[in-house]
Amino acid sequence: PLSLGPAVSDYDERRDKWLRDNPRFPAFVALGRPRVLVVSGSSPRRCSAPDGDHLLLRAFKNKVDYCRVHGFDIFYSTSVLDAELTGFWTKLPLLRSLMLAHPETEFLWWMDSDLMLTDMLSEPPWGRYARHNLVVPGWDDKVYGDRSWLGINAGSFIIRNCRWSLDLLDAWARMGPRGPVREMYGKLIAETLSDRGPYEACDQSALVYLLVTERGRWGGKTLLENTYSLHGFWAGIVDKYEEMRRPGGEPVPLVTHFVGCKPCGGGDSSYDAERCRRGMERALNFADDQILNLYGFGHESLNTTAVRRVRNDTGGPLDADDVELGRLLHPTFMAA
Ligand code: UDP
Ligand code: MN
Repeated sequence: PLSLGPAVSDYDERRDKWLRDNPRFPAFVALGRPRVLVVSGSSPRRCSAPDGDHLLLRAFKNKVDYCRVHGFDIFYSTSVLDAELTGFWTKLPLLRSLMLAHPETEFLWWMDSDLMLTDMLSEPPWGRYARHNLVVPGWDDKVYGDRSWLGINAGSFIIRNCRWSLDLLDAWARMGPRGPVREMYGKLIAETLSDRGPYEACDQSALVYLLVTERGRWGGKTLLENTYSLHGFWAGIVDKYEEMRRPGGEPVPLVTHFVGCKPCGGGDSSYDAERCRRGMERALNFADDQILNLYGFGHESLNTTAVRRVRNDTGGPLDADDVELGRLLHPTFMAA
Protein backbone atom coordinates (compact mmCIF):
# COMPACT_ATOMS: atom_id res chain seq x y z
CA PRO A 1 0.00 0.00 0.00
CA LEU A 2 0.93 3.63 -0.46
CA SER A 3 3.11 5.15 2.24
CA LEU A 4 3.72 8.85 2.67
CA GLY A 5 7.32 8.16 3.67
CA PRO A 6 9.54 6.18 6.00
CA ALA A 7 8.03 5.42 9.40
CA VAL A 8 9.71 7.51 12.07
CA SER A 9 9.09 5.54 15.23
CA ASP A 10 11.18 7.85 17.42
CA TYR A 11 9.84 11.04 15.88
CA ASP A 12 8.67 12.58 19.15
CA GLU A 13 12.08 12.04 20.78
CA ARG A 14 13.84 13.48 17.73
CA ARG A 15 11.59 16.53 17.69
CA ASP A 16 12.09 17.04 21.43
CA LYS A 17 15.82 16.96 20.93
CA TRP A 18 15.59 19.45 18.06
CA LEU A 19 13.54 21.78 20.25
CA ARG A 20 16.07 21.49 23.07
CA ASP A 21 18.91 22.20 20.65
CA ASN A 22 17.13 25.19 19.12
CA PRO A 23 15.75 27.22 22.00
CA ARG A 24 15.32 30.23 19.72
CA PHE A 25 12.47 28.40 17.94
CA PRO A 26 10.17 27.22 20.72
CA ALA A 27 7.03 25.25 19.85
CA PHE A 28 5.16 27.43 22.34
CA VAL A 29 5.65 31.14 21.76
CA ALA A 30 4.17 31.95 25.18
CA LEU A 31 2.51 30.07 27.99
CA GLY A 32 -0.37 28.13 26.45
CA ARG A 33 0.29 29.67 23.02
CA PRO A 34 1.40 27.07 20.47
CA ARG A 35 3.28 28.06 17.34
CA VAL A 36 0.77 27.60 14.54
CA LEU A 37 1.29 27.07 10.82
CA VAL A 38 -1.77 27.66 8.65
CA VAL A 39 -1.68 25.46 5.56
CA SER A 40 -3.79 25.93 2.46
CA GLY A 41 -3.48 25.47 -1.26
CA SER A 42 -5.12 25.11 -4.62
CA SER A 43 -4.58 23.39 -7.93
CA PRO A 44 -1.41 24.11 -9.96
CA ARG A 45 -3.71 24.89 -12.87
CA ARG A 46 -5.57 28.11 -13.39
CA CYS A 47 -9.24 28.05 -12.52
CA SER A 48 -11.77 27.23 -15.19
CA ALA A 49 -14.31 29.65 -13.74
CA PRO A 50 -13.48 33.11 -15.10
CA ASP A 51 -13.53 34.73 -11.64
CA GLY A 52 -12.03 31.70 -9.87
CA ASP A 53 -8.47 32.89 -9.52
CA HIS A 54 -9.65 36.29 -8.32
CA LEU A 55 -11.73 34.61 -5.62
CA LEU A 56 -8.80 32.42 -4.64
CA LEU A 57 -6.60 35.51 -4.36
CA ARG A 58 -9.13 37.24 -2.12
CA ALA A 59 -9.61 34.11 -0.01
CA PHE A 60 -5.83 33.89 0.35
CA LYS A 61 -5.63 37.58 1.35
CA ASN A 62 -8.24 36.83 4.00
CA LYS A 63 -6.05 34.06 5.44
CA VAL A 64 -2.96 36.27 5.32
CA ASP A 65 -4.81 39.01 7.22
CA TYR A 66 -5.92 36.52 9.83
CA CYS A 67 -2.44 35.04 10.23
CA ARG A 68 -0.79 38.46 10.55
CA VAL A 69 -3.22 39.45 13.28
CA HIS A 70 -2.49 36.32 15.28
CA GLY A 71 1.17 35.89 14.52
CA PHE A 72 0.64 32.56 12.72
CA ASP A 73 2.78 31.42 9.83
CA ILE A 74 1.16 30.46 6.56
CA PHE A 75 2.09 28.04 3.78
CA TYR A 76 0.12 28.00 0.53
CA SER A 77 0.78 25.16 -1.87
CA THR A 78 0.04 25.09 -5.59
CA SER A 79 1.75 21.74 -6.12
CA VAL A 80 0.55 18.18 -6.05
CA LEU A 81 3.37 16.57 -4.06
CA ASP A 82 2.37 12.98 -4.73
CA ALA A 83 0.98 12.16 -8.15
CA GLU A 84 -1.23 9.46 -6.61
CA LEU A 85 -2.80 11.85 -4.14
CA THR A 86 -4.55 14.32 -6.37
CA GLY A 87 -7.34 16.78 -5.64
CA PHE A 88 -8.48 17.06 -2.04
CA TRP A 89 -6.11 14.23 -1.09
CA THR A 90 -3.11 16.43 -1.74
CA LYS A 91 -3.35 18.02 1.69
CA LEU A 92 -2.09 14.80 3.34
CA PRO A 93 1.43 14.57 1.86
CA LEU A 94 1.68 18.35 2.19
CA LEU A 95 0.93 18.24 5.91
CA ARG A 96 3.43 15.44 6.43
CA SER A 97 6.21 17.30 4.61
CA LEU A 98 5.55 20.50 6.50
CA MET A 99 5.47 18.69 9.85
CA LEU A 100 8.90 17.17 9.30
CA ALA A 101 10.37 20.38 7.91
CA HIS A 102 9.01 22.54 10.74
CA PRO A 103 9.70 20.90 14.09
CA GLU A 104 9.17 24.35 15.65
CA THR A 105 5.51 24.21 14.63
CA GLU A 106 3.24 22.71 17.27
CA PHE A 107 -0.05 22.79 15.37
CA LEU A 108 -0.77 22.84 11.66
CA TRP A 109 -4.17 24.20 10.72
CA TRP A 110 -5.43 23.05 7.35
CA MET A 111 -7.80 25.48 5.64
CA ASP A 112 -9.52 24.71 2.34
CA SER A 113 -9.11 27.36 -0.31
CA ASP A 114 -12.87 27.97 -0.30
CA LEU A 115 -12.89 28.77 3.40
CA MET A 116 -12.82 32.27 4.85
CA LEU A 117 -12.10 33.46 8.35
CA THR A 118 -14.97 35.69 9.38
CA ASP A 119 -14.06 36.48 12.98
CA MET A 120 -10.66 38.03 12.57
CA LEU A 121 -9.99 38.54 16.26
CA SER A 122 -10.72 35.11 17.68
CA GLU A 123 -8.70 32.01 17.54
CA PRO A 124 -9.21 28.42 18.62
CA PRO A 125 -9.15 27.73 22.36
CA TRP A 126 -5.69 26.16 22.34
CA GLY A 127 -5.79 25.35 26.02
CA ARG A 128 -8.66 22.95 25.47
CA TYR A 129 -6.63 20.97 22.96
CA ALA A 130 -3.70 20.17 25.21
CA ARG A 131 -4.60 16.49 25.34
CA HIS A 132 -5.59 16.11 21.69
CA ASN A 133 -3.65 15.67 18.47
CA LEU A 134 -6.44 16.25 15.98
CA VAL A 135 -9.28 18.74 16.19
CA VAL A 136 -11.94 18.43 13.49
CA PRO A 137 -15.30 20.16 13.34
CA GLY A 138 -17.87 17.45 14.00
CA TRP A 139 -20.16 15.60 16.37
CA ASP A 140 -19.51 12.36 18.27
CA ASP A 141 -23.04 11.05 17.79
CA LYS A 142 -23.05 11.67 14.05
CA VAL A 143 -19.69 9.96 13.59
CA TYR A 144 -19.78 7.09 16.09
CA GLY A 145 -23.56 6.77 16.35
CA ASP A 146 -24.89 7.47 12.87
CA ARG A 147 -21.65 6.55 11.04
CA SER A 148 -22.28 9.55 8.82
CA TRP A 149 -19.62 10.89 6.50
CA LEU A 150 -21.15 14.33 7.13
CA GLY A 151 -20.41 13.95 10.86
CA ILE A 152 -17.19 15.93 10.33
CA ASN A 153 -15.88 18.48 7.89
CA ALA A 154 -12.36 17.97 6.57
CA GLY A 155 -12.03 21.48 5.13
CA SER A 156 -10.70 22.96 8.38
CA PHE A 157 -8.82 20.94 10.97
CA ILE A 158 -5.96 21.33 13.40
CA ILE A 159 -3.30 18.64 13.74
CA ARG A 160 -0.39 18.43 16.14
CA ASN A 161 3.14 17.94 14.95
CA CYS A 162 3.87 14.52 16.44
CA ARG A 163 4.37 10.82 15.75
CA TRP A 164 0.67 10.04 16.23
CA SER A 165 -0.22 12.51 13.49
CA LEU A 166 2.35 11.09 11.08
CA ASP A 167 0.84 7.65 11.67
CA LEU A 168 -2.66 9.00 11.13
CA LEU A 169 -1.70 10.74 7.88
CA ASP A 170 -0.15 7.51 6.68
CA ALA A 171 -3.18 5.36 7.51
CA TRP A 172 -5.48 8.00 6.01
CA ALA A 173 -3.49 8.45 2.79
CA ARG A 174 -3.58 4.71 2.14
CA MET A 175 -7.16 5.15 0.94
CA GLY A 176 -6.28 7.98 -1.43
CA PRO A 177 -4.33 6.70 -4.44
CA ARG A 178 -6.33 7.66 -7.49
CA GLY A 179 -7.86 4.99 -9.67
CA PRO A 180 -8.71 1.48 -8.45
CA VAL A 181 -7.54 1.96 -4.85
CA ARG A 182 -9.60 5.09 -4.31
CA GLU A 183 -12.58 3.41 -5.94
CA MET A 184 -12.21 0.24 -3.89
CA TYR A 185 -12.10 2.24 -0.67
CA GLY A 186 -15.11 4.22 -1.87
CA LYS A 187 -17.07 0.96 -1.98
CA LEU A 188 -15.77 -0.18 1.39
CA ILE A 189 -16.62 3.17 2.94
CA ALA A 190 -20.11 3.04 1.45
CA GLU A 191 -20.65 -0.38 3.04
CA THR A 192 -19.38 0.77 6.40
CA LEU A 193 -20.92 4.23 6.68
CA SER A 194 -24.64 4.84 6.57
CA ASP A 195 -25.10 7.64 4.09
CA ARG A 196 -22.52 7.64 1.35
CA GLY A 197 -22.65 6.22 -2.17
CA PRO A 198 -20.00 3.80 -3.49
CA TYR A 199 -18.16 6.43 -5.53
CA GLU A 200 -14.45 7.08 -5.05
CA ALA A 201 -13.22 7.76 -1.52
CA CYS A 202 -12.69 11.34 -0.41
CA ASP A 203 -10.49 12.42 2.46
CA GLN A 204 -13.49 13.32 4.62
CA SER A 205 -15.27 10.00 4.34
CA ALA A 206 -11.94 8.20 4.76
CA LEU A 207 -11.30 9.97 8.05
CA VAL A 208 -14.77 9.10 9.34
CA TYR A 209 -14.10 5.51 8.24
CA LEU A 210 -10.89 5.42 10.29
CA LEU A 211 -12.58 6.91 13.34
CA VAL A 212 -15.48 4.47 13.12
CA THR A 213 -13.53 1.29 12.36
CA GLU A 214 -10.47 2.05 14.50
CA ARG A 215 -11.92 4.20 17.23
CA GLY A 216 -9.58 2.74 19.82
CA ARG A 217 -6.54 3.72 17.78
CA TRP A 218 -7.61 7.24 16.71
CA GLY A 219 -10.68 8.32 18.64
CA GLY A 220 -9.02 9.14 21.95
CA LYS A 221 -6.72 11.83 20.60
CA THR A 222 -9.30 13.23 18.18
CA LEU A 223 -11.59 16.00 19.35
CA LEU A 224 -14.76 16.55 17.36
CA GLU A 225 -15.27 20.27 17.89
CA ASN A 226 -18.69 21.90 17.82
CA THR A 227 -18.51 24.54 20.52
CA TYR A 228 -17.73 27.18 17.88
CA SER A 229 -17.53 27.31 14.07
CA LEU A 230 -14.17 25.79 13.28
CA HIS A 231 -16.04 25.14 10.06
CA GLY A 232 -19.26 27.02 9.37
CA PHE A 233 -21.53 26.05 6.50
CA TRP A 234 -21.92 29.19 4.38
CA ALA A 235 -25.58 28.92 3.39
CA GLY A 236 -26.87 29.54 6.89
CA ILE A 237 -24.43 32.35 7.58
CA VAL A 238 -23.94 34.72 4.68
CA ASP A 239 -27.25 36.58 4.93
CA LYS A 240 -26.83 37.24 8.63
CA TYR A 241 -23.58 39.17 8.85
CA GLU A 242 -25.28 42.55 9.35
CA GLU A 243 -27.36 41.15 12.22
CA MET A 244 -24.29 39.53 13.75
CA ARG A 245 -22.49 42.85 13.79
CA ARG A 246 -25.19 44.40 15.94
CA PRO A 247 -24.67 44.24 19.70
CA GLY A 248 -26.33 41.17 21.15
CA GLY A 249 -26.57 39.51 17.74
CA GLU A 250 -25.78 35.88 16.99
CA PRO A 251 -22.14 34.91 17.47
CA VAL A 252 -19.92 35.58 14.49
CA PRO A 253 -18.60 32.30 13.06
CA LEU A 254 -14.83 31.94 13.11
CA VAL A 255 -15.01 30.27 9.70
CA THR A 256 -17.39 30.50 6.75
CA HIS A 257 -16.76 27.57 4.40
CA PHE A 258 -18.19 27.60 0.88
CA VAL A 259 -18.76 23.87 0.68
CA GLY A 260 -20.14 22.80 -2.67
CA CYS A 261 -19.70 26.20 -4.32
CA LYS A 262 -16.58 25.28 -6.30
CA PRO A 263 -15.32 28.86 -6.62
CA CYS A 264 -12.56 27.69 -8.94
CA GLY A 265 -14.86 25.69 -11.18
CA GLY A 266 -14.10 22.08 -12.02
CA GLY A 267 -16.86 19.75 -10.92
CA ASP A 268 -20.47 20.71 -10.62
CA SER A 269 -21.45 23.28 -8.10
CA SER A 270 -24.18 21.83 -5.90
CA TYR A 271 -25.59 25.31 -5.30
CA ASP A 272 -26.84 28.21 -7.35
CA ALA A 273 -23.65 29.87 -8.57
CA GLU A 274 -25.04 33.40 -8.18
CA ARG A 275 -25.96 32.74 -4.58
CA CYS A 276 -22.49 31.32 -3.91
CA ARG A 277 -20.77 34.33 -5.48
CA ARG A 278 -22.89 36.81 -3.56
CA GLY A 279 -22.17 34.93 -0.34
CA MET A 280 -18.43 34.92 -0.98
CA GLU A 281 -18.42 38.62 -1.74
CA ARG A 282 -20.24 39.29 1.52
CA ALA A 283 -17.98 37.03 3.60
CA LEU A 284 -14.84 38.62 2.14
CA ASN A 285 -16.12 42.15 2.73
CA PHE A 286 -17.33 41.28 6.24
CA ALA A 287 -13.88 39.96 7.16
CA ASP A 288 -12.07 42.77 5.38
CA ASP A 289 -14.11 45.36 7.28
CA GLN A 290 -12.67 44.04 10.53
CA ILE A 291 -9.20 44.72 9.15
CA LEU A 292 -9.96 47.97 7.32
CA ASN A 293 -11.64 49.44 10.39
CA LEU A 294 -8.33 49.46 12.20
CA TYR A 295 -6.98 51.72 9.56
CA GLY A 296 -10.03 53.96 9.59
CA PHE A 297 -11.85 52.54 6.58
CA GLY A 298 -14.87 50.33 5.96
CA HIS A 299 -17.04 48.98 3.18
CA GLU A 300 -20.07 51.01 2.19
CA SER A 301 -22.01 47.78 2.45
CA LEU A 302 -21.14 44.10 2.52
CA ASN A 303 -22.32 43.79 -1.06
CA THR A 304 -19.79 46.14 -2.59
CA THR A 305 -16.04 46.48 -2.85
CA ALA A 306 -16.33 50.26 -2.42
CA VAL A 307 -14.84 51.57 0.83
CA ARG A 308 -14.98 54.88 2.65
CA ARG A 309 -13.39 56.50 5.68
CA VAL A 310 -15.10 55.62 8.95
CA ARG A 311 -12.82 57.64 11.25
CA ASN A 312 -11.16 60.99 10.81
CA ASP A 313 -7.50 60.92 10.05
CA THR A 314 -5.94 62.63 13.07
CA GLY A 315 -2.37 62.46 11.86
CA GLY A 316 -1.39 60.84 15.16
CA PRO A 317 -0.29 57.25 15.73
CA LEU A 318 -2.98 54.83 16.84
CA ASP A 319 -3.12 54.30 20.56
CA ALA A 320 -1.59 50.92 21.28
CA ASP A 321 -3.29 50.89 24.67
CA ASP A 322 -6.59 50.44 22.94
CA VAL A 323 -7.05 46.73 23.49
CA GLU A 324 -8.62 45.92 20.18
CA LEU A 325 -6.38 48.05 17.99
CA GLY A 326 -3.31 47.04 19.92
CA ARG A 327 -4.03 43.37 19.48
CA LEU A 328 -4.70 43.65 15.81
CA LEU A 329 -1.80 45.86 14.88
CA HIS A 330 0.81 44.16 17.02
CA PRO A 331 0.53 40.38 17.03
CA THR A 332 3.33 40.16 19.57
CA PHE A 333 0.88 41.61 22.09
CA MET A 334 -1.08 38.42 21.65
CA ALA A 335 1.90 36.47 22.92
CA ALA A 336 2.16 38.52 26.09
N1 UDP B 1 -6.75 21.45 -3.15
C1 UDP B 1 -5.40 21.64 -3.39
N2 UDP B 1 -4.88 21.26 -4.60
C2 UDP B 1 -5.64 20.69 -5.56
C3 UDP B 1 -7.02 20.51 -5.30
C4 UDP B 1 -7.54 20.89 -4.09
O1 UDP B 1 -4.69 22.15 -2.54
O2 UDP B 1 -5.11 20.35 -6.61
C5 UDP B 1 -7.30 21.87 -1.86
C6 UDP B 1 -8.06 23.19 -1.92
O3 UDP B 1 -7.66 23.97 -0.83
C7 UDP B 1 -9.51 22.76 -1.78
C8 UDP B 1 -9.38 21.50 -0.95
O4 UDP B 1 -8.19 20.89 -1.38
O5 UDP B 1 -10.29 23.75 -1.13
C9 UDP B 1 -10.53 20.57 -1.10
O6 UDP B 1 -10.65 20.20 -2.44
P1 UDP B 1 -12.04 20.01 -3.13
O7 UDP B 1 -11.82 19.75 -4.58
O8 UDP B 1 -12.81 19.03 -2.37
O9 UDP B 1 -12.69 21.39 -3.00
P2 UDP B 1 -13.84 21.87 -2.05
O10 UDP B 1 -14.39 20.72 -1.26
O11 UDP B 1 -13.16 22.85 -1.20
O12 UDP B 1 -14.82 22.44 -3.02
MN1 MN C 1 -13.96 23.27 0.75
